[in-house]
Amino acid sequence: MNYEYSEAFAQKMDQNDPLESFRDRFLFPKVNGKEAIYFCGNSLGLQPKSVKDYLEKELGNWADLAVDGHFEGEDAWMFVRQKSKPALAEILGTHPHEVVAMNNLTVNLHLLMVSFYRPTKDRYKIIIEAGAFPSDQYMLESQVKWHGLNPEEVIVELKPRVGEHTLRTEDILAEIHRQGDLLAMVNMAGIQYYTGQLFDMKTITAAAHAVGAVAGFDLAHAAGNAPLSLHDWEVDFATWCSYKYMNSGPGNVSGIYVHEKYADRPDLPRFAGWWGHDEGKRFLMEKGFIPMHGADGWQLANSNILALAAHQASLDIFQEAGIKNLREKSEKLTGYLEFLIRQISGKSGVLEIITPENPAERGCQLSLLIHQGGKAVFDEFYKHGVVGDWRNPNVIRLAPTPLYNSFLDVFRFAQILEQSLKKFA
Ligand SMILES: *Cc1c(COP(=O)(O)O)cnc(C)c1O
Repeated sequence: MNYEYSEAFAQKMDQNDPLESFRDRFLFPKVNGKEAIYFCGNSLGLQPKSVKDYLEKELGNWADLAVDGHFEGEDAWMFVRQKSKPALAEILGTHPHEVVAMNNLTVNLHLLMVSFYRPTKDRYKIIIEAGAFPSDQYMLESQVKWHGLNPEEVIVELKPRVGEHTLRTEDILAEIHRQGDLLAMVNMAGIQYYTGQLFDMKTITAAAHAVGAVAGFDLAHAAGNAPLSLHDWEVDFATWCSYKYMNSGPGNVSGIYVHEKYADRPDLPRFAGWWGHDEGKRFLMEKGFIPMHGADGWQLANSNILALAAHQASLDIFQEAGIKNLREKSEKLTGYLEFLIRQISGKSGVLEIITPENPAERGCQLSLLIHQGGKAVFDEFYKHGVVGDWRNPNVIRLAPTPLYNSFLDVFRFAQILEQSLKKFA
């Protein structure tokens, strides 16, 4: 792709963008009275305008039907889990029965560990990337301690080579082989939140299986952002959140994926609840837990209807836009941002992109080190309406998303960035 640092070029790209009209489906925040250039979908996706209608519909069902809403009407709450499956299956690359929306991400990580981390005297190690999202670290350490084990002896952290910012697949595979028979589980991010690196989940999973371990991924930054084929890659389990790239609202529902091969494994230990119990018998209120087929068998509690309504509003947009189209645009949009940052940084090297250059190794986010001016530059471009994300000591994360960001957003950001650097760097 031959990019140009010009408004005319950005406008032309927008005109030729088949997804351009989707931008209008979202509500943009204002900064200093002006519509923001919003590059923070990696943290909280924007609100689809349709969310309101979806919520009002459920409020109406609640008002009109009250308790009968569980079983009556096309929206019967009892079966709401079915609704999100087709879209989730497309986004995650799974069969519908392998996914279900439920709980929150960290809760789901714990639940999945209960089933998939079964340490023995001989096989107990867990591989994770160093610098994982804190919640994942706390989750993992507490799980290991709960088994009476020492996190320092169990958790193996993968660090980039000296002088590098991201992990090489060959080094991940080497560590898996080095741990060999000791390895119980690989439990990594799909996309690393800090660096934006997209891991080769297929290859990592195959390597884990080859030594007799399972592989699970936290897809908080990958779901709705990067192409995923969890089923074909034979990933054992995964979880994600819906409020980042899936635009479903602050703290909204997570989801889990469990590979088909575990669909009918009542012997697999799990923490159970009535919503995971055989649907046909649930209201007989009898003793004896019979897990439902597939991921549904991991549900604990009855569905959060209002949360799922907002989630569905967003999932319907994904279905309409199409995952492939989104990815196609995303590669171009992020490629454009990368091009402009390189132009602006130029020979001074004030900005250093640490996210991999290869589009196959990243989603839409770019993480940059800023070597001069630091937070003052970031604050300056925020003042001019750019919402990005700052991580100490000197990382800026920018996530142009294909559903609601335009090439013009990226161009305008570049101009503001250039001015801000002139002032402070
Ligand atoms: C955003 C994020 C979380 C947040 O967890 P919640 O349970 O949704 O609060 C956890 N892990 C990763 C990797 C994340 O990116």
